[in-house]
Amino acid sequence: MNPPRHGEGDHLKGGGGGPPSQAAADDRLPTSIASPTPPLSPREDIIRKIIHVDMDAFFASVEQRDNPDLRGKPVAVGGSSKRGVVAAASYEARAFGVKSAMPSATATRLCPDLIFVKSRFEAYRMVSRQIREIFARYTDLIQPLSLDEAYLDVTEDKQGIGSAVKIAKAIRAAIREETGLTASAGVSYNKFIAKLASDQNKPDGLCVILPEQGPEFVASLPVRRFHGVGPRTAEKMARLGVHTGADLAAKDLTWLSHHFGSWGEYLFKAARGIDDRPVNANSIRKSIGGETTYFDDKRSEGELRDAIEEIIDLVWERIERYKARGKTVVMKARYSDFRTVTRSRTVGQYVRNRAEFAQIGHSLLDQILPAEMGIRLLGLTLSNLVSEGALRSDTDMQPRFAFDAIEN
Ligand SMILES: [Mg+2]
Repeated sequence: MNPPRHGEGDHLKGGGGGPPSQAAADDRLPTSIASPTPPLSPREDIIRKIIHVDMDAFFASVEQRDNPDLRGKPVAVGGSSKRGVVAAASYEARAFGVKSAMPSATATRLCPDLIFVKSRFEAYRMVSRQIREIFARYTDLIQPLSLDEAYLDVTEDKQGIGSAVKIAKAIRAAIREETGLTASAGVSYNKFIAKLASDQNKPDGLCVILPEQGPEFVASLPVRRFHGVGPRTAEKMARLGVHTGADLAAKDLTWLSHHFGSWGEYLFKAARGIDDRPVNANSIRKSIGGETTYFDDKRSEGELRDAIEEIIDLVWERIERYKARGKTVVMKARYSDFRTVTRSRTVGQYVRNRAEFAQIGHSLLDQILPAEMGIRLLGLTLSNLVSEGALRSDTDMQPRFAFDAIEN
């Protein structure tokens, strides 16, 4: 069962046909180095080979693997309480519209038989270590995005396998054999397109986008599938008449910068299938946070307290997931006139638990109460991080939008 998805672009599956869940044995990527496509990477003579690997419904799949009673059933990882949030949903649950970051109450309404399972981050971290060890057999250039997702630069063919597509197949096979779980992979010439491609044939899919196919592939996709474009940004784009990559490509840089600020240049290139960002094997995460933009501005103390509580839940869940330890908490608030203010507090010891994090969050909110006008965005970030194990950045896309941080 595939998650609900806009149908556009499906004709490009597998880089040229073939059954939907497999690239059509398309090993052409390495030989396309002589392609007439203009140079896309900073080194003009090299077309890179990038693989994006993403485990399928990761937390939920681990739970179904470890508990046969859950297999074939709609499962949500997360708390079922009134204030709980779905951290991950099995494909059976997604068929009902249940998604990550959805309030559990909404999820239960959509799928009354939904089974809630408590998260077991130790189990997820163990699988995460296993898959990173598999990646390392094939390349030294690995950029994890989260526990279950990574970019690999396989331009330099560590094992002499001969093709990025063959490497992707070998990695998927090893993951299946060694973890009992499935992963999807996208193979392409940059990170932006590789990530879109891994999502194309999920679950258990492989998709190859050759350099000459990149611009057309991007043009066909709804912008909401672009990494970094969350629901709110997608809504903003829709209001501006931008629904697909093609709509975005029709806008010039001035227009994009006017509406999306510093992100404009990235969007300008992405809409043309261009992304020069390197696979950054050493991007250590320096902060962890989340923010929410509201449809209706919030101004009363009660509304703002409720709002900050939701953000505390969201961000603390992520802090626990990454076992992050930090001493500085930053609150960001954006007023209805788009002025943005930040307030921060640094404590002597690492923030130890949710109660302490919440107390700091509320004390930062106190500093802007009573609110001088309506507030349209609130966010909290824990920074000054010291990690247990490698904490990697997944924030190489510039803006963070509400709930975009939770990807599964
Ligand atoms: Mg995933």
